[in-house]
Amino acid sequence: MKFKRIAVEEAFVTEEIASEWKKILASKFVEPGFRMMGQTILGDDPGARAVHSRLVDLGAGRIAAMDADGIDVAVISITSPGVQVFDAVTATRLAGDANDVLAAAVKAHPSRYAGLAAVAPHYPDGAALELERAAGKLGMKGFLINSHTMGEYLDDVKYWPIFEAAQALDMPLYLHPREPAPSMVTPFLDYGLYFAGWGFAVETGLHAMRLIMCGVFDRYPKLKIVLGHMGEGMPFWLQRIDNRYLLQVKIGAVKKLPRLPSEYFLENFVITTSGVMSAPALRLSLEVLGADRIMFAADYPYESVKEGVTFLDKVAITEEEREKIYCSTAQRIFKLA
Ligand code: MN
Repeated sequence: MKFKRIAVEEAFVTEEIASEWKKILASKFVEPGFRMMGQTILGDDPGARAVHSRLVDLGAGRIAAMDADGIDVAVISITSPGVQVFDAVTATRLAGDANDVLAAAVKAHPSRYAGLAAVAPHYPDGAALELERAAGKLGMKGFLINSHTMGEYLDDVKYWPIFEAAQALDMPLYLHPREPAPSMVTPFLDYGLYFAGWGFAVETGLHAMRLIMCGVFDRYPKLKIVLGHMGEGMPFWLQRIDNRYLLQVKIGAVKKLPRLPSEYFLENFVITTSGVMSAPALRLSLEVLGADRIMFAADYPYESVKEGVTFLDKVAITEEEREKIYCSTAQRIFKLA
């Protein structure tokens, strides 16, 4: 390869956050989706223990895995659901601590790691301050929020101080999945549908649509939102989203926006390949968005990084597209050296 392979949705967690999750899971007041998720990443079986040890390792083990899989640079962020299941005070403290831990790892491996900050959305002014610290002192390249926070979405204007800061600091928001919100999770609990194969994309796609429809991109036109998993399916839906939106405007069912939903998507969103190794899905996304709006992500340690790399190394796209997806789109979006 004549260019770096940069992977942009690579997960970590601190021991403290993991142990606080365990306390919540042991309590009566736990979101149904998170209760199911907890078994996957916090269970006592060998698989869950292996995932945990990879998540907390920001040192030699992670670098060795990157070397073995051919990843040059990992853009690392807090794993789902991050601090969003804690109360505002705990979440704010643990997000700051996690950012300190990640920033120290990036400092120790500056040519291999970059970081996306964690924030506690439930305290929007505090999150905005943490973004300032992350962009400045900590040298973070963006931030990540794991979809809903206790069933609430970022279209609510009370959260907009976060967007105000994100635009001012030019910090992209990686809107990462988690289990569907408590108000809609019930029919997802059967057959494992709350999980990454379906519920994550439905939940996060809904969140992205709420952002588009609420007008936040008219107020903050330079906001950049990153969606994983080939855009959580949204590139496939854009024509129908516009078409039915226009019908709803015509009958007075929704407010007319200055632009079409798809125009906001094509202007303010960038997608990543995390966990999707499908040539038809990539071809469709390339046709809709172009390689300037698609980045590679491996989703370590949840997916086979080797499989993701083998897919993108071999899939029938142009070498210029491959270079952009692996390297230069991420360098531009996250301002990487
Ligand atoms: Mn992920």
